Amino acid sequence: MTTKVLDESKPLSSAFAPLATNQLFSARHSEAYWQQATRCIDLVRRKVAQVDRPFTGARPEELRGLFQAVDLDAPLGSLEPALQELSRLYLDDAVYFHHPRYVAHLNCPVVLPGILAEAILSPINSSLDTWDQSAGGTFVEQSLIDWTAARIGLGQDADGVFTSGGTQSNLMALMIARDHYGASLEGHGGNKHEGLSADFRRLRILGSEVSHFSLQKSAAILGLGYQAVMPVACDDHYRMSPESLKTRLEECVAMNLIPIAVVATAGTTDFGSIDPLEEVAALCREHGIWLHVDAAYGGGLLCSRRYRHRLAGIEHADSVTIDYHKTFFQPVSCSAFLVRRRSDLRHVTYHADYLNPRCQAEAGTPDQVNKSLQTTKRFDALKPWLTLRIMGADALGEMFERVIDLASEVHDELVRHPDFEVLLDPPMSTVVFRYRPASLQEVERHEPERHETELDELNTHVRSTLSRNGEAVIAATRVGGRLYLKFTLLNPDTSLKDLVAIIERISHHGQAWCDAQTPTRAVAS
Ligand SMILES: *Cc1c(COP(=O)(O)O)cnc(C)c1O
Repeated sequence: MTTKVLDESKPLSSAFAPLATNQLFSARHSEAYWQQATRCIDLVRRKVAQVDRPFTGARPEELRGLFQAVDLDAPLGSLEPALQELSRLYLDDAVYFHHPRYVAHLNCPVVLPGILAEAILSPINSSLDTWDQSAGGTFVEQSLIDWTAARIGLGQDADGVFTSGGTQSNLMALMIARDHYGASLEGHGGNKHEGLSADFRRLRILGSEVSHFSLQKSAAILGLGYQAVMPVACDDHYRMSPESLKTRLEECVAMNLIPIAVVATAGTTDFGSIDPLEEVAALCREHGIWLHVDAAYGGGLLCSRRYRHRLAGIEHADSVTIDYHKTFFQPVSCSAFLVRRRSDLRHVTYHADYLNPRCQAEAGTPDQVNKSLQTTKRFDALKPWLTLRIMGADALGEMFERVIDLASEVHDELVRHPDFEVLLDPPMSTVVFRYRPASLQEVERHEPERHETELDELNTHVRSTLSRNGEAVIAATRVGGRLYLKFTLLNPDTSLKDLVAIIERISHHGQAWCDAQTPTRAVAS
């Protein structure tokens, strides 16, 4: 066991007293604030100008050593050396989402108004839990909620709150659906007061087999367990099959189970597929079940004139998840949870005398904490606010449209290529495919199992090589147990030419892998 001993030769905090108060954001230090903020912005500006690849390919074991050498109890005392250190530890090997060849996850490049809003909201540091900590900030958030609800078509009684992300929004949805059911039970005083009702093991949440894993996580957190999530089969296009949903609901009745929510996904994480919202909504209405629409990915369609119709039916939802930090091009975090009936948000309300007393709510004070799982909460709503005030929704919609169109173009390119297998026509901006060279056809014919295993290894190799070389960062997923590669397109600056170049590199590394295998294959056969 080692005990950390204070080094007497190092100055203790008293020696830093002047520096410490110098670092407070206040009128007294507005000049230092300006100079140092400018310095940071300049650092980022210069870095971005230099970045020539999305990632350097650094491995965790390579970076870990650099971090171990840093003693957090030995401050550097000023900005310059700290920035130099940070460049080395972080910026030099960061993953750059703005780079056209970053096409991996649902991370977007961000628009300037969103970044500028961060420059305003951080120093002022409003907390959006109560009116008395945010004032106008609360109305900015409420305006964004009202604007989003109106675009969805949730009606006059809709309400909602900003959240940390789609995961938290989905958790809220399922919690409220669970408590909405609890509130309907005779002789049960509600989950909030009494905990789960005696029948809690019979509660079920239905989502398609490719819905987001936050459903499972939420079910566990909510005391229902993973077992409560019932997967519903999809059609060939990875959309929830209404027939399967119908069968599942009938099974619930037959097995004395209680479906409390159906989660339809508008833009699945893996494929971008949109569940048939109208048909799912009709089944929910018929069975009196809560419909949550997880539009974390597809939400950006709300701004698109050309593709808004793909969300038709979303207006029937009881609740909706929207991630502005995906398809609205906003910095992380920026997300919302919305409900059709504002009174449903009462399930998350708790009145604390020191913060949000009941009398304050009755007097009409708008305290967002009454609708939120969080207490202290970032003023994230300022980011889409400034974006809408400067650029407007159409401009965002056009950026999303561009990547949707790009997905079709690269799909056509891959389909024409003899060495690639494409899984489906891209429903949004995701293209799922794998390298499957014609040269392996012999193996495929004679040993189909070995062929599949080889393809998995081959595609895994190609993906990690691209990343290691910094040529491109692409995603992977498993479909039917097999490894597929994925372009998740969110950067309107990515061109077809960039993607064709990546495809060329995939072929190159794939071919090299096959060539290296040939001797072993010859020995094996
Ligand atoms: C990204 C995503 C989520 C989770 O959102 P976070 O903001 O990452 O928490 C939920 N559902 C879907 C469909 C998503 O694509």
